[in-house]
Amino acid sequence: MAIATTNPATGEILKTFEPLTDSEIEAKLARSQQAYQAYRHVAMAQRADWLKAAADILEHRREEFGKIMTLEMGKTLKSAIAEVEKCALVCRYYADNAAEFLADAPAATDASRSFVRYQPIGPVLAVMPWNFPFWQVFRFAAPALMAGNVGLLKHASNVPQCALAIEEIFLQAGFPEGVFQTLLIGSDKVANLMADDRVKAATLTGSEYAGASLAAAAGKQIKKTVLELGGSDPFIVLQSADLEAAVATAVTARLLNNGQSCIAGKRFIVANSIADEFEQRFVEKFKALRIGDPMDATTDIGPLATPDILKDLDSQVQNSIAKGAKVLTGGHPLSDRPGNFYPPTILTDFSPGSPAYQEEFFGPVALLFRVAGIDEAIELANSTSFGLGASAWTSDEAERERLIEELEAGAVFINGLVKSDPRLPFGGIKRSGYGRELSVQGIHEFVNIKTVWVK
Ligand code: NAP
Repeated sequence: MAIATTNPATGEILKTFEPLTDSEIEAKLARSQQAYQAYRHVAMAQRADWLKAAADILEHRREEFGKIMTLEMGKTLKSAIAEVEKCALVCRYYADNAAEFLADAPAATDASRSFVRYQPIGPVLAVMPWNFPFWQVFRFAAPALMAGNVGLLKHASNVPQCALAIEEIFLQAGFPEGVFQTLLIGSDKVANLMADDRVKAATLTGSEYAGASLAAAAGKQIKKTVLELGGSDPFIVLQSADLEAAVATAVTARLLNNGQSCIAGKRFIVANSIADEFEQRFVEKFKALRIGDPMDATTDIGPLATPDILKDLDSQVQNSIAKGAKVLTGGHPLSDRPGNFYPPTILTDFSPGSPAYQEEFFGPVALLFRVAGIDEAIELANSTSFGLGASAWTSDEAERERLIEELEAGAVFINGLVKSDPRLPFGGIKRSGYGRELSVQGIHEFVNIKTVWVK
């Protein structure tokens, strides 16, 4: 895949970038290793000051960074600006809390003194996706840098200007050169990086295919990985739910980020007794949304990030229709304009073997299922190979407990939107990946958890 900025709203190639040569990659690795030797000894308070300075830069230049994201991957400008603000939040969160998360943790044993010490491990590679081009990087970088590691970013090939802007932010904030570097490289270079002794671990957010490739390369070298992969999250609405709130949140859950979010509600599983009402309101709200230029403040839905994503999504939709699914709204790309525009779409009445039962639909397509009640809802929710986040709506206490206990997912949100929050761990089970980002668990992924025993 060429490294380039292509405007998803017009299809125009705006800027292309030469990938780094092997000797340029070597120079960056050497710098990373060298930077780590000094940075690991920098006091936590100094790291926190730099991270707070990064938060200030993000806040002051939120509009400028937001525009780069919108230009490169098509999210609405208002959501891009909100994403920049959230990055500032995660920087401040770890600047304020890392010292406590990484403090020596005493344990009572037969020693006169025993405790756990958390130490940095070195350069960590982050392979990141384009869908939240700032947030995905900052939620890795903020804890990694606070822990004393240094970062190497291989960003998605369609967001090179975001990748370069992020490197610049850390430098401007005061982090020494080499502590956070962007590598403009294709995915074919990742396995070699994993084989390099200087790279100690890696995190990848993206597709199952990419995650499995990285984990295989890391496994050969006995190196740790964290994988944040796809999902086909259930959004369950049971009879006692507050229907109005559930429908409004269902629309946001599915269409946030033009439908391209790992934790989007993708399968809407609704109790028969309220399904007609839910369907009618859901369809009405989808039809009322404005599709158009993502830079325009009145736009709700912008283009998909690339022509390939649009093509893949449409083929899943057409395949579902061919297997008998009914289209309630949308169902075809918008061919009256350039760019990768796909309308908000709702499909229902799936036959066995339909992609709706197993595949992730990465775009603004909601899959609506009807079930008799909670037993069937949980069974259907758990019937995919994924397990990222689940949203479930009910006002019944006993149902709530069953949903929390029985849903196979890295997160369960009752009567709310599944979202990431620096204060809560984030990650999946099954083929949605392993490991956690954010919160105290996130900062413990890439450290040596050293046991100390003193007689
Ligand atoms: P992708 O193709 O897997 O790309 C993600 C990153 O992996 C890019 O930097 C890509 O580089 C790189 N990559 C691709 N193939 C690789 C390989 N064989 N070895 C190493 N690196 C490789 O992902 P996508 O399809 O653009 O992103 C959407 C997917 O990400 C969806 O499944 C979504 O659910 C998931 N996602 C998960 C989370 C989460 O937190 N769980 C968050 C966001 C997205 P190039 O761009 O150069 O190919």
